[in-house]
Amino acid sequence: MTSLASDRIVRRFRIASSALGIATSILAAAVLLGWTLDISFLKSIYAGFPTMKANSAVALLIGGAALFVYHRMTEGAWVRSLLDVVAAVFGLLGILTLAQYAFGVSLGIDQLLFRDSVTAPWTSDPGRMAPMTAVILALSAVAMAFSSPKRSPAMGQTAAFVSVFASVLTILGYVYGVQVLRGPEAFTQMALPTALTTLIFALGLLFMVPDRGPFGVLSTDTIGGMMARRLLPMAVIVPVLVGWLRLLGQERQLYDVEFGIALFALTNVIIFVFIIWWNARSLHRVSVSRREAESEMRRFKFISDHAGDAHFLVDRHQKLHYVNRVAVDELGYTREELLELSASALMADPKLATGRMRRFIEMADLEQTPPFEWRLRRKDGYTFPVNVSVSRVSFDGEPYLYVVAHDISALKAVQEKLEDQNRLLEAINRVNTTLAGELDLDKLVQTVTDAGTEITGAQFGAFFYNVIDEKGEAYMLYTLSGAPREAFESMPMPRITEIFQPTFAGEGITRISDVTQDPRFGKNPPYNGLPEGHLPVRSYLSSSVVSREDEVIGGLFFGHEEPNIFDERSEALIAGIADQAAIAIENARLFTAAHSELAERKRVEEELRELNETLEQRVHDRTAELERINRQLKAEITDRSRAERALERTNRALSQSNRELQDFAYAASHDLQEPLRKISSFSDLLISDYADRLDDAGQEYVERMQDAALRMSRLIRDLLAFSRVKTRAKPFEQVDLNEIVTEVLEDLLVAIEESGGQVDVGHLPGLDADPTQMRQLFQNLISNGLKFHRHGISPQISVSAELVDRNGETTCRIEISDNGIGFESKYLDRIFSPFQRLHAKSAYPGTGIGLAICRRIVERHNGEITAESDPGNGSTFIVTLPCSQENEEVEEATSEQPVDA
Ligand code: ADP
Repeated sequence: MTSLASDRIVRRFRIASSALGIATSILAAAVLLGWTLDISFLKSIYAGFPTMKANSAVALLIGGAALFVYHRMTEGAWVRSLLDVVAAVFGLLGILTLAQYAFGVSLGIDQLLFRDSVTAPWTSDPGRMAPMTAVILALSAVAMAFSSPKRSPAMGQTAAFVSVFASVLTILGYVYGVQVLRGPEAFTQMALPTALTTLIFALGLLFMVPDRGPFGVLSTDTIGGMMARRLLPMAVIVPVLVGWLRLLGQERQLYDVEFGIALFALTNVIIFVFIIWWNARSLHRVSVSRREAESEMRRFKFISDHAGDAHFLVDRHQKLHYVNRVAVDELGYTREELLELSASALMADPKLATGRMRRFIEMADLEQTPPFEWRLRRKDGYTFPVNVSVSRVSFDGEPYLYVVAHDISALKAVQEKLEDQNRLLEAINRVNTTLAGELDLDKLVQTVTDAGTEITGAQFGAFFYNVIDEKGEAYMLYTLSGAPREAFESMPMPRITEIFQPTFAGEGITRISDVTQDPRFGKNPPYNGLPEGHLPVRSYLSSSVVSREDEVIGGLFFGHEEPNIFDERSEALIAGIADQAAIAIENARLFTAAHSELAERKRVEEELRELNETLEQRVHDRTAELERINRQLKAEITDRSRAERALERTNRALSQSNRELQDFAYAASHDLQEPLRKISSFSDLLISDYADRLDDAGQEYVERMQDAALRMSRLIRDLLAFSRVKTRAKPFEQVDLNEIVTEVLEDLLVAIEESGGQVDVGHLPGLDADPTQMRQLFQNLISNGLKFHRHGISPQISVSAELVDRNGETTCRIEISDNGIGFESKYLDRIFSPFQRLHAKSAYPGTGIGLAICRRIVERHNGEITAESDPGNGSTFIVTLPCSQENEEVEEATSEQPVDA
């Protein structure tokens, strides 16, 4: 029954019921006013009719008001209690009155408010209500007490209906003038105002709970309900009205009793036939449209059930009126369970949902909400996200909400994954931006560690620089994230264990779901596992940070105390971070290097700038100085050319005087030979022809004269030879020195033998030279070696030569060594000058010209002569001559004649 009741009709019945309640109170109040002002119309309508008693009027005044209050006030315990109190008053009043009639007593309840006249018409006891009124009050009490959904609406309605029947019966008594219907004559008769008021009140009570009890059918939308609503009032009103008209006609003697009955029956038949036909017609229409609506409904249900979304029809009290199959499937309730539930029971957050629905209902101008998100709660408590759109619909003037909910769990999951991904990308991007802009190495490494920890969802992370000590083991803790530095500081320096090793070896990513289960774990003494106080690690993820040049910069390490935290995605992310970190670290290093280079360059530039600034001044100074030097130079050049000219003049004078000197030397030596020869030959004659005439002294004088002449002759010969080096020079030709030396040795044979000496000659080369002068050269040097021997030691002489490169020119270096007396090296220069001798003439005969001739010959051959010696240790004369010569102009002596020594 419940579900069939139409809210609209129920509401109308409730309104009607409360209106009847208030009407009851108004009528009762009017009667009481009649009593107060003694207006008999208000008390009995017709004077002579029985009056409505004051106590029943008071009761009905209260009852009507209670009924009104009951409908107007939202149902609460106090309203129900109020009705119960009123019902008790009604019951008590009715029963006590009946008791007074039954036992013929007066309990003083009849004239509590107003005194009634003893001569009041149709009144057995002044102020006492009719027994029928008392019965109706008692029945009303029952109706009020039971008309509640939780009590017995059927009982309440039955009592109310009987009251209606009793009231109508009394009214008919008055209408048709049937005295017996108004009650037994011995007792007070029920007044017409009383019957009207109780009828109205009883009707109000009949519809107190319109959707329940036997009369609930009237509130339904069914055909039965419609028929009952239309026919029931007609069935009461028509016969009463027609009966009254018939009686009226009969009283006016328009027709007799039989005709009256026939007329009554006929009128009833006609009216009811019409009413039933009219009713049937409209019911037929309803039926047809309902059938259409039903097939429409079936179609709708089919579509709705097969829609992908859950559909709900909710009234403004959040009661569910319709749910589709999807809703049933998704929520895990049966359809029946759902229709018993309040919509808020399906919401994950009922408060929010209710507030939203209420707001939407209040926004009268909006037909449909834009889609928004909610979470629905399944029967098992699991909640899931839905996209909801709510449309306002109206059925039979009642507003409803049609809610379409689309399960977006899958979408949400994807979305969350995307958002997750996005968040990560953002984080990576943020890291990259920071890394790209960060050149402070410390900060950079900290950023990398923090980012890695955040992105992988690790509890803590660390970056270790790959620093290896001299033992090749330890490395340095650098930065930390997610854990305070103190968490590591109490621990000894971490070492490269089997687990860490691949990271520091640059092998990339290491991921371990549970370190404590890893076979490599706990292999390294002394701890064999995590040192005491170490952060708890089970999930482990690490990555090498490797530079572009494959240098392992360090390692990134992440940990979590729960196992299985890191997945492939974490690996990919951390690999990306490690790459970025490597690049950034390299950049930072490069930057530092570049920075210092830049600083250096800046310094140089600064210096250059300063230099530039002074340059102008310096150029100016320098130009001035150059000009000064130039002037000086010019002066010097003038001086020098003057000097050169002077030199030239001197040179010319010198060679002139040289030539003159040579001529003189030649002439002198040549011309001196003649007188000398004469001295020599005359002294010989003196000795041979006049020896006997000369005494010893004379003879000695002649001999000394001869000696002097001989010495003079040698001197002249040598001087001549010296001057002939230039004057008798022959052109250069290829000369074999071996041959020359052999000839010289042959010439010196006697001297060698006399001295008992020995001359060793090595292989000597050939060269361009004047052969006569070469002979002279070797003759002089070898004979000196033989002459200046030490006393008692036979001379040992060696002649050797080698080719030597002198400034790209091949020269012949000739050495003539002896083991003779030697000389002090300070006299080296002196011995090559003419007439210079180091030893006494008596000890070693000689003129002192020999070495001077040698130097002249060597110089003519563009060579050099020198000597190395130590007194008592022999001497070595070194002659260096070019191997090839260009022939020169041989200086011709102006007046040389052949001279014989
Ligand atoms: P002299 O006619 O005296 O040999 P030289 O010109 O040949 O004249 O030599 C000059 C001097 O050089 C010699 O008087 C001698 O003192 C010294 N002298 C030359 N050759 C040798 C030598 N082989 N050992 C030592 N002294 C030498």
